[in-house]
Amino acid sequence: MQQLFVRYLQNCKLPAGYREIGPLTSEEIVKAQHRLIMSAQNLCFGEEIEALKSDKPIPMGSKLQPLNPILDTDGILRCDGRLKYECIACETRYPIILPKTQHITKLIIKNAHQLALHSGTNYVLSQLSGKYWILSEREAIRGWERECNECKRRNAKPVQPKMAPLPKYRLGGSLRAFTHISVDFGGPIITVQGRGRARVKRYLCLFTCLEVRAVHLEMTWSLHTESFLNAFFSNGIKKRYARKRVI
Ligand SMILES: [Zn+2]
Repeated sequence: MQQLFVRYLQNCKLPAGYREIGPLTSEEIVKAQHRLIMSAQNLCFGEEIEALKSDKPIPMGSKLQPLNPILDTDGILRCDGRLKYECIACETRYPIILPKTQHITKLIIKNAHQLALHSGTNYVLSQLSGKYWILSEREAIRGWERECNECKRRNAKPVQPKMAPLPKYRLGGSLRAFTHISVDFGGPIITVQGRGRARVKRYLCLFTCLEVRAVHLEMTWSLHTESFLNAFFSNGIKKRYARKRVI
């Protein structure tokens, strides 16, 4: 919207035949963005800007004092770091200082966050630091991450389902383990029966006590009934389970 206002104001100063018509150019978009940034800077750093314009030192206790701020030719407040002689882009050497609380800062963070495909704080910060110096930048980025609906959806944890009450057969029974049991199968498990022999499939037959959750494991040759009965009645299991109810 700001871009349209900038064009409108420019067109108002021009005669009818020289007015800009059509889609916005990149220059107009950048110009409008700089206007918004300057407006935010004037709101938050008015004293510092006035001091710089009149060649006075930055007020004591200002947040900008450690950043060594300067005003560029357009009047934008920039940070003068130690990369003055580095062969990199000018906007990286002198990043634009942005206050944390202004709406334009939030929009810039939002844009970087979306261009980074909702990546983490550090990646968004690295993308922004090539052009901007945002006060309390991590806090500002995390603030937007907390508001972003896509991030909320991605980071949402599933609701734990409410557990049903325990069935009757698990309550009030005997204190002896394996009074009531359930059975399950697992596998196949590839096993080697002796040296030099072919690998064969074996299955795991699992008995679990429904009251104390104790577990007993048996090996079966296959998933057939005969294999199950063989596991069920072998190795003393018969003594324990034969007269019990299997669920
Ligand atoms: Zn996000």
